[in-house]
Amino acid sequence: MKNRIGIVGGGQLGRMMAFEAHKMGFRVTILDPTPESPAGQVADEQIVAQYSDKQALTKLAKKSDVITYEIELENSDIFDNLIENGAVIHPSITSFKLINDKYLQKEFFKKNGIPVADFLEVENKEDILKAVKKFGYPIFLKTRRFAYDGRGNALIRKASDIDKSLNSLQGSGLYVEKFVPFVKELAIMVARNTEGEIATYPVVETIHKNNICHIVKAPAPIKKNISKKTQVLAKKVMQQLQGAGVFGIEMFLTKRGQVLVNEIAPRVHNSGHYTIEACITNQFEQHIRAITGLPLGQTDMIVPAAVMINILGGRTGVAQVTGMDDALRLPQTYVHIYGKKDTKMERKMGHITAIDKTIQNAYKKAKRARMFITI
Ligand code: ATP
Ligand code: MG
Repeated sequence: MKNRIGIVGGGQLGRMMAFEAHKMGFRVTILDPTPESPAGQVADEQIVAQYSDKQALTKLAKKSDVITYEIELENSDIFDNLIENGAVIHPSITSFKLINDKYLQKEFFKKNGIPVADFLEVENKEDILKAVKKFGYPIFLKTRRFAYDGRGNALIRKASDIDKSLNSLQGSGLYVEKFVPFVKELAIMVARNTEGEIATYPVVETIHKNNICHIVKAPAPIKKNISKKTQVLAKKVMQQLQGAGVFGIEMFLTKRGQVLVNEIAPRVHNSGHYTIEACITNQFEQHIRAITGLPLGQTDMIVPAAVMINILGGRTGVAQVTGMDDALRLPQTYVHIYGKKDTKMERKMGHITAIDKTIQNAYKKAKRARMFITI
């Protein structure tokens, strides 16, 4: 039986994938440069090496029937050699290459009738000023690649912000995007297996703080017709992309009820962590099913409401968790800690999911639990 999975990246996403893979009897090898990475701690084996280390990748391929990844890879060329030698990688590198470059992603969607915010490729101050003439202030300057947790974004509010923004984002290609005055941010997880079967999860609301996903409310407190429309849009997006696995689609909802696609992540996603306690099949199990050619599981929620709050680091130093006893005294409240050795400001150290009859109640409990936890 083909039961060996290799994961490039040893963070929390890999860790939660490894838990689910083990449940179904798979063997998991992680490739990550940090010894005893969050995923490495719970996998069968970790290869300690850089993601771009060719020898290490070859070793991973030898130990794996299928390879997947949980990080924003800088360069997918590192996989070319493996593919030539017969390695199976999901999601496919074609979809990865498209998604990895946010500008190509946006162009692709525009061409295929998927609504996105207006955007323009820019190189210098002159180009940005031209874009401002078209779109007005404020305007988002974004890097095409290597961006996550808002690290590749700068909001330009006025002409005097331009130089500073350009300096802060130098190094990779840039583009600007019209600012969307959204009323809510929405997200949806979608899965496709190697047979082409597609399954969509419920639409959730995501609340970001300093560009980092902070709170997720499931299901999103929005009108039924908006939720339907979002599901249809997500399916349409997925039909145009290639590749097996779970994908996270981030969207904006405008005052007029328009839904715009912000970006796609070619992997399990922070906005899908609630599925662990709240859905029939959680996103991590679904990903493992999708990449190994198994049938997809049902995606419905098994509880009326769930709220997830991230546990972000609030200081720099060795991580030490306190407050678990108080937090876990709250009914139907679950605390996940990722096993990262060091805590840092804003670093994702864990998350809390609370379930209840209403979003309001779940939110109250999750917030309360979050106040108890320090790390
Ligand atoms: P993440 O890894 O958290 O998804 P990212 O680095 O990929 O972040 P984006 O998703 O592009 O960055 O942007 C992060 C956040 O910034 C969005 O979730 C949204 O809150 C805000 N944002 C981005 N683009 C726009 C826009 N055009 N208009 C308004 N807000 C925006
Ligand atoms: Mg994003």
